[in-house]
Amino acid sequence: RAKIAASSKAGASYKMALQDTEKGVVTRFPPEPSGYLHIGHAKAALLNDYFAHELYKGTLLLRFDDTNPSKEKQEYQDAIVEDLALMGIKPDKTSYTSDYLQILYDYGVRMIKEGHAYADDTDQATMQKERFDGIASKNRDLSVEENLAIFEEMKAGTEKGVKNCLRAKLSVDNPNKAMRDPVIYRCNVDTPHHRTGTVWKIYPTYDFACPIVDSIEGVTHALRTTEYTDRNPQYQWFLDTLKLRQVHMWDFARMNFIRTELSKRKLTKLVDAGTVWGWDDPRMPTIRGVRRRGMTIPALRDFILKQGPSRNIVVMDWTNFWASNKKEIDPIAPRHTSVDAANAVKATVINGPEKAYTEDKPKHNKNPAVGTKRVAYSKNLLFDQEDVKLFKEGEEITLMNWGNAFVRKINGSSPITDIELELHLEGDVKKTEKKVTWLSAEGQDLIKADVWEFDYLMSKDKLDEGDNWEDFVTPNSSHKVEALCDCNVTDLKEDDIIQLERKGYFRVDKAAKGDQPLVLFGIPTGKTK
Ligand code: ATP
Ligand code: MG
Ligand code: MG
Repeated sequence: RAKIAASSKAGASYKMALQDTEKGVVTRFPPEPSGYLHIGHAKAALLNDYFAHELYKGTLLLRFDDTNPSKEKQEYQDAIVEDLALMGIKPDKTSYTSDYLQILYDYGVRMIKEGHAYADDTDQATMQKERFDGIASKNRDLSVEENLAIFEEMKAGTEKGVKNCLRAKLSVDNPNKAMRDPVIYRCNVDTPHHRTGTVWKIYPTYDFACPIVDSIEGVTHALRTTEYTDRNPQYQWFLDTLKLRQVHMWDFARMNFIRTELSKRKLTKLVDAGTVWGWDDPRMPTIRGVRRRGMTIPALRDFILKQGPSRNIVVMDWTNFWASNKKEIDPIAPRHTSVDAANAVKATVINGPEKAYTEDKPKHNKNPAVGTKRVAYSKNLLFDQEDVKLFKEGEEITLMNWGNAFVRKINGSSPITDIELELHLEGDVKKTEKKVTWLSAEGQDLIKADVWEFDYLMSKDKLDEGDNWEDFVTPNSSHKVEALCDCNVTDLKEDDIIQLERKGYFRVDKAAKGDQPLVLFGIPTGKTK
C-alpha cells in the first residue's frame, strides 16, 4: 500500500507536506462517536495513518472526541473501531477526550483565575449577534470570584448554572470571527455520557479540548480539514495562553462528492427516517455503505491516497472512485450467467443434444486461477426478452461460450414467448453481430436471484445556497429485478464479487439458501455512475 502513493506524484507531495519531522511524528485521528465513518472520514484517517506509519514510522493515535453526550453513542464508537480495522488502520493508542474531563476542568478553572475566561448567561441568539457585530458581552468584566462561583454552579448543574457557558476572553472584535471570545464550556445536565455517565454536567467544546489534549498526548502534527483554518490562530492562542507544548497544524482539503451529503447529522436523518436501510445501506457514503455496494478496501485506499495532500477543495465525481474499484475486481471476479426472470424466453434447439450434459469451463477466461464452473448444455434454453426482441428470423447469432446458431422461428411478440434455434457450430463467431448469454433449462438447477441496482441518494449534483437538502432526496433510489442464475452461484458467499456476463459486476449481499434467493447488489463501474 505504501508503494501506491509513494510511487505516484502524490507520494512526492506527501514528502513535502509536513515540517519538523526529524524528532518523530505523532498524528491523531479524532472522530466524534456521533455516527458511522463516511468516506470523508476515511480520507482523514488514511492521511493520518499514512504520515504516521508509512512515511515517518511514527505513532498514530485514535482519539474519540466525545464531549457532547447528546450526539454520541457506544454503538458509533464500536463501529468506528471496526471500520478503521477494516481499512487496515491500526492506531498505536486509543484514547478519549472524556478521559481528560478532570484535567480540562482544571484548565478551565485556571483560565478563569488567570483572567482568560468568563461565565456568560447571554442567550444564544444575542451572543451570536454580538459576536457577529463585535460587541462585548455584558458579562465580560465579571470578577474572577464571580466567574469561579458561576463555573461551580455550572458544574453542579444548578438552575443558575445551566443558563451559563464559559467563554475564553480572547477578543471582542478580531477580524477573524473565530477569535471573538469562543465558548469553551457548556452545560449538559440531561443526557448521561456513554462513558462517564452522570459524573459531569459540564463539557468542554472541541475548540478548547482539542489543543490541550493534542499537546498532552504528544501530538506533533495535527491534521485538520481546511474549514478549520480560521480557527488555527485560536488553537495557537490556547497553547500559548496555557503555556502548553507546541503542535504543528497542517490543513488538508475536505473530500466531497457530487450528489452526496457527507454530514453525520444529515446521514443520521436518512437512517432515522427510513429513507435507507441503515448506516450500511449500499447507497450510503459510509465506509460500510460503499463496501456493501462492492467497493474493495485496496481500491478505496488507493483512490483516497492518490488524491494527495492538496488543499484545493474539489467536488468529486463518483466515476473515478468506481473505476479504481473496477481495476481491482475485473481480473478476479468469477463470471456467471443470468437471465431476467420476467418474460424470459424459452428456446428449443432443434438439432441440440438429445440428453443434457455439463462441461467444466473456466470461471474467468483470462485468469485460470479463478477456477472452473459447470456449464450445462441441452435442447432447452432460456434467453433474456431484451436480447430476443432484437433477433430476426434467419439471422445467425453467437451463443456465448458455445457457438453459433440460426434463429429459425420467433413466436409471440411483446412479449415473445418462445423461439427455435438451429445450432451451427461451424459458423464463425467473429462474423455475428449478436453475442448473447443463455442458460440451459435442463441439466442444472437454476438459482433464483434478487438483483438490486441503486441510484444516488441526492437528485442534484451540488446543492445551491438556500436549497433545502431534504427536497432533493431521490424518491426511489433502489430497484429490484428477479433473475435466474447458473447452478454454480449456489457456492457464492456473502461479500463475494462476481460478474454476470454482459450485465456487470455484483456483490453478494446474501447467499442463496433453500427457498431464499441469492441477493446481488450492482456495483457501479465508473462508466455511467
Ligand atoms: P460531520 O460533518 O460528518 O459530522 P465531522 O468533521 O464533524 O464530520 P468528526 O468525527 O469530528 O466529524 O471528524 C473526524 C475527522 O474527520 C476530523 O478530523 C474531520 O476534519 C475529518 N473529516 C470529516 N469530514 C471530512 C471530509 N468530508 N473530508 C475529509 N476529512 C473529513
Ligand atoms: Mg467534528
Ligand atoms: Mg461537521
